Amino acid sequence: MTLSAEELQKLENSIRNIPDFPKAGIIFKDITTLLADKEAFGLLMNHLAKRYGSYNLTHVAGIDARGFIFGAALAQMLGVGFVPIRKKGKLPYTTVSEKYALEYGFDEVEIHIDAFSGVENPNVLLIDDLIATGGTAYAAANLIDKVGANCVEACFIMGLNFLDGHAKLSNVTTVYTVIGVN
Ligand code: AMP
Repeated sequence: MTLSAEELQKLENSIRNIPDFPKAGIIFKDITTLLADKEAFGLLMNHLAKRYGSYNLTHVAGIDARGFIFGAALAQMLGVGFVPIRKKGKLPYTTVSEKYALEYGFDEVEIHIDAFSGVENPNVLLIDDLIATGGTAYAAANLIDKVGANCVEACFIMGLNFLDGHAKLSNVTTVYTVIGVN
C-alpha cells in the first residue's frame, strides 16, 4: 500500500515548480504536468484507490478546483459519489458556508445543503491537491460536519512541511499526504 522510494520520486518529478506564482516568494506546485503524464497520474490514482478501498466510504468530497480532478477520478474508481466544495457563489442550490482567514482578509467555501442526503451515515474522504496553512481544508472539513456527514480522512497529494496545516487539520480529522514538501 505504501509507495516505493522510486515511485514517490517519479511522482515528485512529475510536478512542476513555478517560482513567484501567483506572487513573489511563493513556489507554486503545478500538478498539470502530473495529470498529463499518464504513468504518474495512474500510479497516484491506483495508490489512492488501494488505500481507500477498505475505508467504507460513501463519498469523496473535492475542494475547488484541483481537488475536483483527483476527487472525481477517485470516486469513480471506488464506486462512490463525488461532492464538490466550492468557492463562494458558485453552487446553484441552497448552500451551507464557512469563512476562513487568509493572510489578509477572508475567503469562504460552500457545500450544497443536501450534498449527502438519502445516504445513511455518510462516510466522506476530503481531498485536495495541496495543504499549505490548512485554512481551506479546515473550513471544508467543518462543512462536511455541518451537513451531517463524517469526514473520515483528509487526503492531499502534497503537504508543505514548513507550515502547520497538517497539525491544525489533525484536530478535526486524520490527515494523509502522499508527498511531503520541505
Ligand atoms: P491553505 O488553505 O493555506 O492550506 O491553501 C491550500 C489551497 O491553496 C489549496 O487549494 C492549494 O491548491 C492552494 N495552494 C496553496 N499553496 C500552494 C502552492 N504553493 N502551490 C500550489 N497550490 C497552492
